[in-house]
Amino acid sequence: MASDSLSSLPLSRLKGVGPAAAAKLAKLGLHNLEDLLFHLPFRYEDRTRISPIGSLRPETGVVIEGQVMAADVIFGRRRSLLCKVADGTGMVTLRFYHFTAAQKNNLERGRTIRVYGEPPPGSAGLGVYHPEYQLDYADSGLPPLEKALTPVYPTTDGVSQKTLRNLTTQALAYLQAHPPRELIPSTLLDQSGLPSLTDALTKLHNPRPDDPVNLLLDGKHPAVKRLVMEEMVAHQLGMLQKRAGQKAFHAPRLHADDLFEQLQASLPFTLTGAQQRVIGELLGDMGKPHPMLRLVQGDVGSGKTLVAAAAALAAIESGYQVALMAPTELLAEQHRDNFHHWLAPLGIQVHWLAGSLGAKARRDTQAALADGSAHIVVGTHALFQEAVQFHRLGLTIIDEQHRFGVQQRLALREKGRFDTRHGIQVPHQLVLTATPIPRTLAMSVYGDLDTSVIDEMPPGRKPIDTLVLPEGRRPQVIERINDACQQGTQAYWVCPLIEESEEIQARAAEASFTELQAALPDLTVELVHGRMKAKEKAERMARFASGEAQLLVATTVIEVGVDVPNATLMVMENAERLGLAQLHQLRGRVGRGGEQSYCLLLYQTPLSLTAKRRLAVMRDTTDGFVIAEEDLKLRGPGEWLGTRQTGDMAFRIADLVRDESLMEPAREVADKLLHDHPDNVESLLRRWLKGGESYADI
Ligand code: ADP
Ligand code: MG
Repeated sequence: MASDSLSSLPLSRLKGVGPAAAAKLAKLGLHNLEDLLFHLPFRYEDRTRISPIGSLRPETGVVIEGQVMAADVIFGRRRSLLCKVADGTGMVTLRFYHFTAAQKNNLERGRTIRVYGEPPPGSAGLGVYHPEYQLDYADSGLPPLEKALTPVYPTTDGVSQKTLRNLTTQALAYLQAHPPRELIPSTLLDQSGLPSLTDALTKLHNPRPDDPVNLLLDGKHPAVKRLVMEEMVAHQLGMLQKRAGQKAFHAPRLHADDLFEQLQASLPFTLTGAQQRVIGELLGDMGKPHPMLRLVQGDVGSGKTLVAAAAALAAIESGYQVALMAPTELLAEQHRDNFHHWLAPLGIQVHWLAGSLGAKARRDTQAALADGSAHIVVGTHALFQEAVQFHRLGLTIIDEQHRFGVQQRLALREKGRFDTRHGIQVPHQLVLTATPIPRTLAMSVYGDLDTSVIDEMPPGRKPIDTLVLPEGRRPQVIERINDACQQGTQAYWVCPLIEESEEIQARAAEASFTELQAALPDLTVELVHGRMKAKEKAERMARFASGEAQLLVATTVIEVGVDVPNATLMVMENAERLGLAQLHQLRGRVGRGGEQSYCLLLYQTPLSLTAKRRLAVMRDTTDGFVIAEEDLKLRGPGEWLGTRQTGDMAFRIADLVRDESLMEPAREVADKLLHDHPDNVESLLRRWLKGGESYADI
């Protein structure tokens, strides 16, 4: 039989599913037998044994059996039916707000009743609301108890648990009678000890009373892992396919000549070994007639910008244009200034395109890009707007890709798409991340990219020493700033985002500025915040960079771009309010010269548990990759990536944090499958990547 026959059997083939029921099920995303079987319970109820009424506990559902003592309609604030049931160990009250006269009449005194109920939180276990129950009819008696645990499914109005259980039971019977061909051959799963798909699904829908329910629910049971593995394999296959599709395009061969040598000669330092290696990897890719797709990862301060500049010069030297896109105007400005600083002496003008640009300047830049007189443009989202056209775009560089969606990366690539005699040509793509990405996420979000890691810091940098201090130590901290600056170094005082409004943030910074100015009369203190005009901000930053000012009070605007090696002390107020990524980025503003640097994190009490954890992580490590892993654990992948990216990689069963250890094996299985069982690939993708929009447009 066909491997994906489960998905070709509509639910209407099951007993009890007419057009109306089918429509309701469709709202839950359930169309066929496969959908139904992959719709997993989120908890289980134990209806396999009877518990004494005396043992009822809040929030624990159990089956009880006893005699009806009384059933009365009470006319209180709300009319209700109360039925008292006793079994010799205790008494419980069943309460119904919706009931019929017949229902009341059936609850005759002395009759045996079996109830499945869960006392609400806080109650002493004496009442249950709207429980499911069965009465003993003289001729038939009560049916036998369940043999398996009872699954409870996510559902919506109009589809009852009973319906879902009934349909799932039918689907499981079909599955047992016609086990589907395993899309991942058992030989590939054997080492990991995972069950077959049929066994895994049966276990998840119908666990036995002695099965470890906790393991099933928190994803540690082999039955769940089997499904997670298959889903991850499917995602990896999607990535591999997408990648193969991209690599099938043509791209211009780009070679470095002497421009980069000239740039290197002008630098006051030499490249690190890691920078040289990564530049070599980029040039190797760009010299091929197929598009480069490469992610460059590196910790804050590892020197990613220079690596990007090397790639840009190769493109320019080969007669092609370069577009560099960053997610915020501030970050883009920083790149523009760096590139200008490095490229202007080589006679290359860096162009600028961002939302804030005036109409005339925008038209000029667009004209220069269209006629090819502009060789490199730096900007924001404005770069992939419709009006922007390139003459010969050969390389796109995207910083902080995870803040952009895949579609946006592709939209920029489209600007350099040409039909040639050999086929379609697209630009090379380089992606930079400002913060390191945890490995699991990198594999699932960037699985279609090759990865280079700059795993070495420029020489002479000493790890920053971080202290976590309560707000009460402020006077000593201010004293310490005084001492440090008297000795000739400089310091930052960061007032982080307290309210979402820049206005309030600016005011908080102004208040600290006034306080510090008064407390440090011997120092020159400077203030910058987001409400200042760009020109004023730049002038003030320049006074700090030149050493004219010793202390810079700032909002988080300094997160990116400030580079003053003489600054060796950073104080952050209200550090408990910042996320790990931001704390790490901010801290990266010090430790840029050869002197020992310090970071003092001031916090207000009470501290939440996660805030405490974040501050401890910051105190214990300066390794951006470790911090990123911790951040992922604390925030979860959805928040870590932002909604845009998660849309591209929503998993149905897998959880990137919980199932991290399966990612690597899944990648291996995907590789082998592609090689040894290519016929299964389509079915797997169809099963797991419904819609598959992100894979369609390659
Ligand atoms: P990031 O990886 O955080 O983007 P940058 O590219 O901004 O880092 O580089 C951080 C600082 O280090 C910049 O001032 C840059 O000029 C400097 N830098 C880059 N490479 C080296 C090097 N090999 N030796 C010394 N300083 C370097
Ligand atoms: Mg950078």
